[in-house]
Amino acid sequence: MATSDDDDTKAAILDCHVCIVGAGIGGLMMGILLERADIKYTILEKHPFHNPLGSAICLEPSVQPLFRQLGLMDEIHRLSKPFGAMVFREGTLDIIGTFSAQTPLDINDRYGGYNRIIARRDLCALLAAQIPKEKIKFGKRVLEVRQNAGEVIIRCSDNSIHHADILVGCDGAYSAVRQGLYSGLSARGELPKQDNAPMGYQYDCLVGVTDPMDPSEIPSLTGKFSEFQTILAKDANCSYWCIPLVGNRISWMVVKFHNKGKKYAEDQLFKHSGWGAEAAELMSYEFRELITAYGCELGELMDNTPKGSMAKVMLEEKFYKTWYKGRVVLTGDAVHKVLPFGGQGANQCIHDVLALTNLLVQLKSNTVPDIEELFESYFKARSPVGRTVVNMSSRVGNLMNRKGMMNDIIRKVALRHMPRWLSQIINDKWSYDRPQLECIPFVEVPGEFQPRPQKRSAYVPASILGRELSSSTKTLAVE
Ligand SMILES: Cc1cc2nc3c(=O)[nH]c(=O)nc-3n(C[C@H](O)[C@H](O)[C@H](O)COP(=O)(O)OP(=O)(O)OC[C@H]3O[C@@H](n4cnc5c(N)ncnc54)[C@H](O)[C@@H]3O)c2cc1C
Repeated sequence: MATSDDDDTKAAILDCHVCIVGAGIGGLMMGILLERADIKYTILEKHPFHNPLGSAICLEPSVQPLFRQLGLMDEIHRLSKPFGAMVFREGTLDIIGTFSAQTPLDINDRYGGYNRIIARRDLCALLAAQIPKEKIKFGKRVLEVRQNAGEVIIRCSDNSIHHADILVGCDGAYSAVRQGLYSGLSARGELPKQDNAPMGYQYDCLVGVTDPMDPSEIPSLTGKFSEFQTILAKDANCSYWCIPLVGNRISWMVVKFHNKGKKYAEDQLFKHSGWGAEAAELMSYEFRELITAYGCELGELMDNTPKGSMAKVMLEEKFYKTWYKGRVVLTGDAVHKVLPFGGQGANQCIHDVLALTNLLVQLKSNTVPDIEELFESYFKARSPVGRTVVNMSSRVGNLMNRKGMMNDIIRKVALRHMPRWLSQIINDKWSYDRPQLECIPFVEVPGEFQPRPQKRSAYVPASILGRELSSSTKTLAVE
């Protein structure tokens, strides 16, 4: 039964309109959560449609209870493969070591699910299918963000103006929301020096997903598990990865390492970066002749990748100290840009938007002090993890891409001699938080290692008051 306090809380929430910038994984998940919490929202996405570029995403056990709670886990199982192992090889194809999901520690037994490997575009399509069409506005590149005591005003490249009570920047590494927020803070001398510093980067990356390949030629495609094949190229400063996906497809990635690193100022980054198809074709010629663990050259996988769907991207890493001001808050890659090697980008942006939504349903009033108090709680909860994942992905990047005796030794020890107890300590740390949305019914979490307990929110969204949680999950065809 709702108390009068609950009614007050609900009224404040219902009056609040959230604008989400970016329909990537974070923005789409934020939309789904606000939908379930009955909070009004609009998503603005710069692309005219969902950007199909990109490669594979790893969904780790820490986010799976949320997918289960949202009724999406069956679809995730259908669209993804469980991660089985990463076989790490020299350029000669000799095996350096194997990182397995089953030995020395079985991830499924301990945490109730293996990491799931899914094509990014399949995950985005599944998430987008859960959101009413009219709530995602495509072709809206955000150019300018202003705010005053009463609202946020957002201007897009088509000259449309949007108003909101709260603005959530889910617009990735080159976030326009961050730029807008920081330029105001910088002008007033309130921006920490670190946040003004240009992003550095050490890797260029080329990715693609093939059309279905012939399993009689590549038998490992039919395996239940996705077995990564990662090769440290003999003569080139690069590593290349092949990742089997559902539907006999292979996600592939080449990572080129720049020894001294490169630095671009923020405004230059906009010109050079992004997941673009344009420069990809050119870069691909450099790597076509690399031999894969399947016996064919990488060029064969490139030829089986639909034209125009290869993407080249600069891989930066940076942790930002400023996450919010006034009515504007940042999430995901906009504040903790990680390298893809630790598989954390998608997981951490999902954790961010979930933590934010769990707080938003408790918003006391639509005033700046109450909103900032809430954002401060979000920052305190999420920024230590954000900082850790940026550092961790950098270390994993070194381990997987850099040559030299020291790195060889660390690679061999880590991949061949990891004891079960150490693997358990590391994985327990990452899997203790397996949070769910606090305003709808919780689901049980499988696995012998149970997550940190969570409290139910006093607020119950109108859509589920007096009736069961809807199970009408929209399904998708695997291409
Ligand atoms: C096209 C693409 C492909 C990717 N492929 C991979 C991959 O293969 N493997 C991997 O590990 N990671 C990949 N990533 C990164 C990964 O998705 C993120 O690290 C992680 O999911 C964090 O997501 P995010 O929501 O914070 O940002 P992102 O996933 O980067 O999403 C940001 C969204 O904001 C939109 N946007 C940006 N600027 C504006 C603006 N001014 N106005 C409106 N909208 C804007 C972008 O178009 C995008 O849809 C890819 C990202 C993108 C955008």
